[in-house]
Amino acid sequence: MIIQPKVRGFICTTAHPAGCQAAVKEQIDYVKAQPHADGPKKVLVIGASMGYGLASRITAAYSFGAATIGVIFDKPAAGNRTASSGWYNTAAFENFAHADGLYAKTINGDAYSQDIKEQTIALIKQDLGQVDLVVYSLAAPRRTMADGTTYSSVLKTVGAPYTNKTIDLKKRVVSDITVEPATEEEIAATVKVMGGEDWKDWMDALKAAGALSEQALTVAYSYIGPDITHPMYADGSIGKAKDHLFATSQQLTAEGIPAYISVNKALVTQSSAAIPIVPLYISILYKVMKAHGNHEGCIEQMYRLMNQKLYNGAAVTDDENRIRLDDLEMLPDIQSEVQALWSTIATENLDTHADIDGYFSDFYRLFGFGLDGVDYEADTDPSVLIPSLM
Ligand code: NAD
Repeated sequence: MIIQPKVRGFICTTAHPAGCQAAVKEQIDYVKAQPHADGPKKVLVIGASMGYGLASRITAAYSFGAATIGVIFDKPAAGNRTASSGWYNTAAFENFAHADGLYAKTINGDAYSQDIKEQTIALIKQDLGQVDLVVYSLAAPRRTMADGTTYSSVLKTVGAPYTNKTIDLKKRVVSDITVEPATEEEIAATVKVMGGEDWKDWMDALKAAGALSEQALTVAYSYIGPDITHPMYADGSIGKAKDHLFATSQQLTAEGIPAYISVNKALVTQSSAAIPIVPLYISILYKVMKAHGNHEGCIEQMYRLMNQKLYNGAAVTDDENRIRLDDLEMLPDIQSEVQALWSTIATENLDTHADIDGYFSDFYRLFGFGLDGVDYEADTDPSVLIPSLM
């Protein structure tokens, strides 16, 4: 079939296998071309099919030659429906890794569940014995507990409503939006989904099974950002979950597993596209950072994380033991330019104030569209197998 993007709200319901493969290859080629530190050889990535998790897996494999096990939650193609892009990314990654002589296997299922934890640990024990690094990169809208209770996360403020600018990306219109505060129940549910409880469950289960090597460490991802996004993010319901994630890193470390929070840059991913206000900030940030020549995507960020911050001698952290990959985003000259553009941005000056085309290009690329060298008119078979799941 001819596969074209079908965008609904902030997600694309189709994905292109050849495009996803090309996007994975670009990331692999980037890492291959960089110098490498001496890093972990056996790596588990939870949430490995897109965004920061996929880039973490690619970096571990191609910087350190690591064997990787990825936990994903993706759908294969069925009839006229394409697979999810995470499915195609994972198939492509495994194929490239195997061709390059690297071990790569995948577990597909709900990472929050006990069953998937057990399957993953059994695979580690059987094939790798132990792992040296656990990357926890889940971004999920909901979590179902063992008793069937489902918690849903919300992207709301805490305490008071917040009004600021936002963009309707489809109509390219800037308008004001008021984000309402979350209830106590919604905040608690968001912490259940995106806080550290499940990360701790994973680490406890891995430790109890003897699946962590002596030098094993773990990392999970967070975001802070500038004041304009704080009511929505750092001080909002998702921020409460990230506070819990941070507290979990301290608890894990105190219990003997060095655990880091890496504060990453704001980037277009399937998850960030859903947050009010933030996409407009991201498109201004892209404009400013590209002009300064210091714009990075997921792969540049994860390359830097692993090769320069985590495994280049002692971990490079701030005074709260957090790794700061948002260092370039938060540079004062970058933020003052973003702030100036933010204060005057409107529908009429979108093209001069923000990199909307860059935002869209990144958004479509998440689903394998708009990549050079891919024939989007070609008749394409949407059924692609992930080698280790055959
Ligand atoms: P993403 O949507 O690109 O990736 C999330 C991954 O989690 C996907 O591979 C998805 O399939 C997987 N996943 C979701 N639910 C799952 C489940 N139940 N079981 C197994 N896998 C599941 O998101 P992302 O932006 O890369 O986010 C990853 C982490 O990075 C999150 O903690 C996020 O808060 C953080 N972060 C993101 C940004 C940003 O701007 N995108 C910035 C800083 C930190």
